[in-house]
Amino acid sequence: MRYDIVIVGGGPAGLSCAITIGSAVEHDMEFAKGKKVLVIDNGNSDLKSAKLNNVPGVKRGTLGKELLEDIKNQAKEYSCVEILEDTVQKILKNNGFVVQTASGNTFEADVVVLASGFKAFDIEGIELDVVENPLSPKPGRVMIKTSKSYEALDKNANVVENLYVAGLLAGFSSMFSCAAGSGVQVGINILNKYAGKPIVIHDVP
Ligand SMILES: Cc1cc2nc3c(=O)[nH]c(=O)nc-3n(C[C@H](O)[C@H](O)[C@H](O)COP(=O)(O)OP(=O)(O)OC[C@H]3O[C@@H](n4cnc5c(N)ncnc54)[C@H](O)[C@@H]3O)c2cc1C
Repeated sequence: MRYDIVIVGGGPAGLSCAITIGSAVEHDMEFAKGKKVLVIDNGNSDLKSAKLNNVPGVKRGTLGKELLEDIKNQAKEYSCVEILEDTVQKILKNNGFVVQTASGNTFEADVVVLASGFKAFDIEGIELDVVENPLSPKPGRVMIKTSKSYEALDKNANVVENLYVAGLLAGFSSMFSCAAGSGVQVGINILNKYAGKPIVIHDVP
């Protein structure tokens, strides 16, 4: 099956990216018309273990797993966004990308967003520059080096065009708003590229 954008990881970063793209599609923006987004997630977000007292706008004491469910439901409200429970094992690049999962699914996409957290990066197929995450308080956490637009760099420091990295895997601090904000920025960067100019998506009452 073919999607315009496949997002690997349905934590705060991946879902925020999906919501951003979904909102552009819902706004009927010319460059976003008909775009389809697939989020593939294997259900192990760090947010599930959290109790949140310091997330701006979120009621103190909210459980991370409840917030995650709310964000997931918000993403699902956009008809262009699908969420699949599965594990991505391999990503191949030719003209676009081919994404293979543990359940034997294969998806084609023009754009892939890696938002699979900082615990490890063991997806095969593309040799990326995976390094120790300098902003993690715990050792052994990883990040993928990126360009300024958050497109991944390979081991020779070449930009892998249309392969974006978001959240902790892009080297952001492990705080909800940093991860979610990074996902939004990557979503906007993808939309900017489609539009050929800087855009924002704002609603008014
Ligand atoms: C105990 C604890 C308490 C915390 N408390 C707070 C707090 O009080 N305030 C605060 O702001 N932040 C807190 N955080 C941090 C916050 O939860 C993280 O910063 C945030 O979840 C990171 O988002 P992410 O999307 O980058 O990664 P994650 O949330 O880790 O999401 C990554 C997702 O990718 C999926 N995935 C990984 N590999 C694959 C694959 N190959 N195929 C498919 N899916 C894959 C995972 O299952 C996961 O769902 C806490 C974290 C922990 C662990």
